[in-house]
Amino acid sequence: MNLQRYSRQTVFDEIGEAGQERLLRSRVAVIGVGAIGTVIANNLCRAGVGFVRLIDRDYVELGNLQRQVLYTEEDARQRVPKAVAACEHLREVNSEIELEPVITDVNSSNIEALISDIDLVLDGSDNLEARYLINEACFKENRPWIYAGAIVGAGMTMNIIPGETPCLRCLFSHSLPSGTGPTCSTAGVVNGITGVIASIASTEALKILIGSSDVRKTLLAIDIWSNLFDEITIEQNRDCPVCAHHEYKLLGRLSGSYTTSLCGRDSVQVVPGSKTTIDIERFAQRLKGIGTVRYSRFMLQFSGGEVEFSLFPDGRAIIDKVKDESAARSIYSEYIGL
Ligand SMILES: [Zn+2]
Repeated sequence: MNLQRYSRQTVFDEIGEAGQERLLRSRVAVIGVGAIGTVIANNLCRAGVGFVRLIDRDYVELGNLQRQVLYTEEDARQRVPKAVAACEHLREVNSEIELEPVITDVNSSNIEALISDIDLVLDGSDNLEARYLINEACFKENRPWIYAGAIVGAGMTMNIIPGETPCLRCLFSHSLPSGTGPTCSTAGVVNGITGVIASIASTEALKILIGSSDVRKTLLAIDIWSNLFDEITIEQNRDCPVCAHHEYKLLGRLSGSYTTSLCGRDSVQVVPGSKTTIDIERFAQRLKGIGTVRYSRFMLQFSGGEVEFSLFPDGRAIIDKVKDESAARSIYSEYIGL
């Protein structure tokens, strides 16, 4: 194999040719390809991680471009699913690795399958509930993962390795009731912090994948607006339900049909209760008589009167311009009705 393109890593003693070969044999999943996920994916693909699965439920919008570094205005105009847009751009950067886009909402029914053939999971999600689910799945499947989050000018990251470090539930022992914490849409975020946190997380990823002894075991907290840099030692909670007692409550929960308000806009995602595959073209024909329809093999976009939504082949829909989840549900049942 020609390692020339990775020469700046192979001449770096800590990686070397042996480390590079390990990277090329490694498999990672990035859950959420937004501000942090795009930077992590970019770094890992350029570094030559051999297989990268990019998982995201949403499509590109203009308001993403301030911080989500892989996307373009054209992606936003076309509303390309983020997982697909990220893979297409990264294939032009590195055609020698394998990239797999997955357009889905990660939940208790699919997360184990998404990480079971993976060496390391990277957190690009935007909420604590998703991270708790990643935490449980990674402990159950015995996979390391890297927590990474940022808001306003501050961010945190921690390597979470079953059997070696505490877990996310040791760090945040009580779950936040959803909707009560600040989010990037209500508080904002500067693109420097998402870049810094993601770059640190992706460097730790390289260390974990090559088996380096320099893997950080602490929580790193940074506020680049206030110039605060902290490294905090987290103790394992001996009563932690996840890493001490191996109780995986979120994984065991039947997902059923559910709705989620999406961070950053007046949109609600509706996920049908049972696994389904819908024929996008057939739906497009059905909806043409009552509004404007655009579709590709990835999704269908409908707008008619006050109603706007995007429908994905797995029956999932993102309903736009709605204030609450019940309004989204009624639009879903009226127009899609699975
Ligand atoms: Zn724990």
